[in-house]
Amino acid sequence: MGRAAQAVIHLSAIRHNYRLAKRLASGAQAIAVVKADAYGHGSAEVARFLEPETVAFGVACIEEALELRASGITKPILLLEGFFTEDELAVVSANNFWTAVHRPEQITWIEQAVLTQPLNVWLKMDSGMHRLGMAPETYAAEFKRLKASPNVESVVLMSHLACADELESAYTYQQIAAFDQATSDLDAPHSIANSPATLGWPSLHRDWVRPGLMLYGASPFEDAHEYADQLMPAMTLQSEVIAIREILAGDAVGYGASFRADKPMRIGTVAMGYGDGYPRHAVTGTPVMVNGQRTRIIGRVSMDMCGVDLTDIAGVEIGATVEFWGANLAVEEVAKHCGTIPYTLLTCVTKRVPRVYC
Ligand SMILES: *Cc1c(COP(=O)(O)O)cnc(C)c1O
Repeated sequence: MGRAAQAVIHLSAIRHNYRLAKRLASGAQAIAVVKADAYGHGSAEVARFLEPETVAFGVACIEEALELRASGITKPILLLEGFFTEDELAVVSANNFWTAVHRPEQITWIEQAVLTQPLNVWLKMDSGMHRLGMAPETYAAEFKRLKASPNVESVVLMSHLACADELESAYTYQQIAAFDQATSDLDAPHSIANSPATLGWPSLHRDWVRPGLMLYGASPFEDAHEYADQLMPAMTLQSEVIAIREILAGDAVGYGASFRADKPMRIGTVAMGYGDGYPRHAVTGTPVMVNGQRTRIIGRVSMDMCGVDLTDIAGVEIGATVEFWGANLAVEEVAKHCGTIPYTLLTCVTKRVPRVYC
């Protein structure tokens, strides 16, 4: 009934992908990263499904972590972006959240806090990405401050990589050298690997890996990859053809009349647009599947609709299923056509699109 736009979420694919991360990093523990509503897949549903398999979850911030607690998740939840104000610490401690710490003031707040339980802190080093983290030169001193505080139960040594999706990147080797040198005298577990490092950099698995994107079945790599190719896509974004028209050579389709037919064509109008999160950057020629057959987007994507080329595919009627990405059309390929990455396509599917779990 009603508008057919939906995102079908294959929870068993997410489990398969999580198990692949665990198998590849078999000496490490794996945090399931479910920030940004589990990359658009629904964090409560994904976390509930994965909870029997995981040791902990990763989210960006306290708001996302509290949402998981409200939906019944009891395993530890790591705040990857840390906390922002001193008064959050009581919530962090009371809810068994683990937290990144990336600047010295946060350590002062921890030292001064009155807490119900001591904290599990992930001390972040800026090993070269220049986004968050302590400088390598001050890292050991900050570690010692944390270890000396009765408000700290344990510390994990953490960093994040700028170029892990480029296998054999010299920049990654530099970051690792900086990290290893600054931590050589510190006795604590390490955590460095995101999805690309979990898939492609075994020496960086260390004690805790933090896979995000790979759980949802998208490859972080530009090219084919032995392990990334074993991932199963978790989201199928689909809708239906709601109108069909025959156009003549010279006729235009869509806003701006930017597409002009050079021959008679059959055009399907589909209930899917940028108001659903399907990108307006999906220009004419972006691949799409209609009734299981590959064809292309025609004209500009509007807010609620877009056009698809039915000229050369047989038997399409109103109500035909259209897949925008999923099991039969890789989100990575669509992302490339749109000049973006699978991360943005998956996280930008809007609330208007019902998630259907299977
Ligand atoms: C988002 C995030 C991850 C997961 O990254 P993917 O590339 O999606 O695997 C890991 N670590 C940190 C600190 C993050 O912010």
